[in-house]
Amino acid sequence: MITSQDIQKILGKYDLGKLAIGTLGSHSSLNIFKGAKEEGFRTVCICKEKDAIMYQKYPLVDELIIVNDFTELLSPTLQERLRKLNVVLIPHGSFTAYLSTEELTDSLHVPMMGNRQLLHWEANRKSQEEWLRQAGLRLPATFKSPDDIDRLIIAKLQGAKGGRGYFLANSPKSFYKKADEMIKRGLLTKQDIEKVHLQEYTLGVNVYPSYFSSILNSDVELLAMDRRYESAVDSLGKIPAQEQLEIEVIPTYTVVGNFPIVLRESLLPEIMRMGENVQKKAAELAPPGIIGPFCLETVITDDLKIFTFEISARIVAGTNVGIGTSPYAYLLYGENMYMGRRIAMELKEAVKQRRLQEVVA
Ligand code: AMP
Ligand code: AMP
Repeated sequence: MITSQDIQKILGKYDLGKLAIGTLGSHSSLNIFKGAKEEGFRTVCICKEKDAIMYQKYPLVDELIIVNDFTELLSPTLQERLRKLNVVLIPHGSFTAYLSTEELTDSLHVPMMGNRQLLHWEANRKSQEEWLRQAGLRLPATFKSPDDIDRLIIAKLQGAKGGRGYFLANSPKSFYKKADEMIKRGLLTKQDIEKVHLQEYTLGVNVYPSYFSSILNSDVELLAMDRRYESAVDSLGKIPAQEQLEIEVIPTYTVVGNFPIVLRESLLPEIMRMGENVQKKAAELAPPGIIGPFCLETVITDDLKIFTFEISARIVAGTNVGIGTSPYAYLLYGENMYMGRRIAMELKEAVKQRRLQEVVA
């Protein structure tokens, strides 16, 4: 387990005047790098050869490090190189998708923005639910065993897989039938099914508010909002019901992109309180709580109840819709503010106030 003292030691050797912002080249890296450049940081991108074109076309990266696989981030040589470059890493969805929680907390000896302790609370669906419930949020019901299913449920895999492999069922029988089909179609493995999480399906529309928890200002800002564009579920409406029945579609939820949205204003106070309460609870569970960006994944029903089904305690790719500007960031900061830049702003301010150790772990 890497302690904050270990990170302090590393930071002690850093040249803070030459601090660089680094991340894996995917997910929301363009957002992060653009923000870093606008705040005057050098940028370091760890990326795969096949994706390098992105950083040749968009000139946002000062140092491009090519790897065969993102797990190379665990190699001592690469970590040494990052430390020499005075890098603070910004974690995003690819970190948790390609590295395990243990690898991130125990083997990544490079300062990273955020709270490593909180990763454990987030990685496990049960502890995550506990956290959100204790924060007073409304959650969909969960079911222990497929045999308990008595209403429409959504079956989910452990961890952030961007909706891949999710499916619906409304009885034990339909669960086992669909699980079999998912395995046959190669979308899931037997082991996946054993660890599957069963959650009541909440009928409503999706809203993903993104917040920024500023440790320096002891404040939670509502900065962005999006919804997802998912294949194949978002295309089902293009086929008439008759054909849907004939081809026996199983809706799947692979995320392909995101849309910006603005919320009915009367819903905003609750959305704001939810963000505050989640951070308050996080600060109790793992002080100082969330450091930097986080996102609540919600469904809002027709009686305007907000159900939260997940939290991401880091930048989500949905904030990419706000690169440049977005309504909620505009309300707080005026033009040209977005999550990537807000992150860099906090780091810059932390250096200025000599409080960098409070925002990296
Ligand atoms: P990728 O590097 O594109 O494979 O993404 C890494 C992880 O983040 C995967 O679990 C993706 O499903 C998830 N992800 C990537 N882009 C998005 C997005 N636009 N919205 C939600 N999740 C995403
Ligand atoms: P996720 O990857 O957890 O963000 O979810 C992917 C998709 O599953 C999104 O379209 C969500 O709307 C949908 N989803 C997840 N949980 C629920 C739920 N409890 N009720 C309704 N839809 C859900």
